[in-house]
Amino acid sequence: MLLEVSGLSVDYVLDRADVRAVDNVSFTLDRGEFLGIVGESGCGKSTLLFAIAQLLAPPARIAAGSVTFKGDNLVGLTDRQLSSVRWRDMSVVMQSAMNALNPVKSIGAQFRDAMRAHGKTSRDEIATRSAEVLRMVGIDQAHLRSYPHQLSGGMRQRAMIAMALLFTPDLVIMDEPTSALDVVAQRSLMVQIKELQRSLGFAIVFVTHDMSLVSHFSDRLMVMYAGQVDELGATRAIFSAPNSTSGGSSDTDMNALTVIAWSALVVTTTMPPANWPVA
Ligand code: ADP
Ligand code: MG
Repeated sequence: MLLEVSGLSVDYVLDRADVRAVDNVSFTLDRGEFLGIVGESGCGKSTLLFAIAQLLAPPARIAAGSVTFKGDNLVGLTDRQLSSVRWRDMSVVMQSAMNALNPVKSIGAQFRDAMRAHGKTSRDEIATRSAEVLRMVGIDQAHLRSYPHQLSGGMRQRAMIAMALLFTPDLVIMDEPTSALDVVAQRSLMVQIKELQRSLGFAIVFVTHDMSLVSHFSDRLMVMYAGQVDELGATRAIFSAPNSTSGGSSDTDMNALTVIAWSALVVTTTMPPANWPVA
């Protein structure tokens, strides 16, 4: 087992009261597995990812639970202790590459900074690896000299993914990495992510509000609703029998999954899963 999240709760500590954004979430992830996390906007997906990567900043606070990665509980570790894990073993692709990339530094300089910060100092090694990861995501290495604003939205996202792969991590956490792209670019990026995962063997936790996008690529799916796990199971099982996998809110007329699946049905035009619940 690569990752075990157990009873994880996160609060936003506010003046008037604490808001629980992630509520008692538990799941496991095996090596090489692709877990999709879906749920409506505001249900706590980003907060959960930040908690897993130990990137939360005040007013957010882990209130309970553990995040065991490769045998170590990351909750409570110092930044110094975490720096041996971050980037090397676990990397994060943020929701907006535009915010995550430094606008005044070339792509190559940012790759170099990341590698230097984590112990890789040989100029040759850094140059070779930077070109290599950029090629992996289908970008010409000449763009190592480009600045973020000189790349298209899709290229920026792929550059972020390349950066996340600098150290061949075991786990890549992705927070809606395709959400700023048009539908065609989204699909091609998803296919590329999946191919990279197959060839390099890393596990993925992939967050999106678009179930139709992730369901073609994920081994397992977690549906979040109001900070909690509403559904968790094999992607196929969740599609064929919504809400039979986890004993979620089956007493409500239309649960979170149904709502998302319906909106997915409306927007999906290509590649429905084999057992898509129409037809
Ligand atoms: P998602 O990524 O699923 O859209 P988030 O994790 O961003 O959801 O947010 C989950 C909940 O936490 C939301 O209800 C949001 O209002 C709340 N929240 C997020 N960031 C903050 C913050 N900085 N301060 C207070 N509440 C926050
Ligand atoms: Mg989010």
